[in-house]
Amino acid sequence: MIETTDLSVIYGRHVALENVSLKIERGTLTVVLGSNGAGKTTLVNALSGMVPLANGSIKLDGRDITNEPPHLRVQLRLATVPQGRGLFPDMSVEDNLALGGFVSDDKEELQQRLESIFRIFPRLNERRKQAAQTMSGGEQQMLAIGRALMSAPAYLLLDEPSLGLSPVLTIELFKTIRKIADRGVGVLLVEQNALQSLKIAEQAILIEIGRVVDKGPAAGLRYDPAVIDAYLGGGSRTKLLSPPRD
Ligand code: ATP
Repeated sequence: MIETTDLSVIYGRHVALENVSLKIERGTLTVVLGSNGAGKTTLVNALSGMVPLANGSIKLDGRDITNEPPHLRVQLRLATVPQGRGLFPDMSVEDNLALGGFVSDDKEELQQRLESIFRIFPRLNERRKQAAQTMSGGEQQMLAIGRALMSAPAYLLLDEPSLGLSPVLTIELFKTIRKIADRGVGVLLVEQNALQSLKIAEQAILIEIGRVVDKGPAAGLRYDPAVIDAYLGGGSRTKLLSPPRD
């Protein structure tokens, strides 16, 4: 389990995250919702070790990783797909994927991981020699996730993976993310696409101005008036989101 206690991040005088406590279990998907500037990326960066904490602690399967550097967190099986994907644009698909496997030098194991990623994303296999920058937005997102999977993560942080993708591709991508969680990975998904992401998540967290203002089962948040008004278009509340009657 990833467990954060009272996580706070301050940039200069701006408090970007304040006392955020959350738990992410393996095999589950947690979606983080919040408006622009709420602190979602800061949360991902704090978990991956890219920004220092002003306060609080992070435990990974019981081990305190609060002061551990990013590469060690990856070795401890916490992988991140950052916003903007962080690919090496001139490098081929297979070289980008190979970089994700830096945590292991077992060639056979890495080959098996590569094959399993190609089963999840056959398009990457078809384009393995192609430069990352010449791939479409959706393909680049697959590559960024594939690269993170090369480290065989137990936990995966995804920062707005649907950014720039068409609605159809987004639904496909979310199905794949769900499958990754179903294989036992604990997924934290930062998203603007509240409607689709709440459908695939177990748990949801709502952040406003650096604070958690609501959290609970995703199904519950789908019918929360505050979530509907802020993220799902209040006007379509009854049409889209009436709770099922049974
Ligand atoms: P978005 O959905 O627009 O990506 P977000 O919820 O991911 O937003 P963050 O990127 O975490 O928000 O930013 C939270 C706040 O912290 C914002 O007000 C932002 O301007 C500020 N911020 C982020 N990074 C820095 C930084 N390096 N220095 C100063 N302020 C920062």
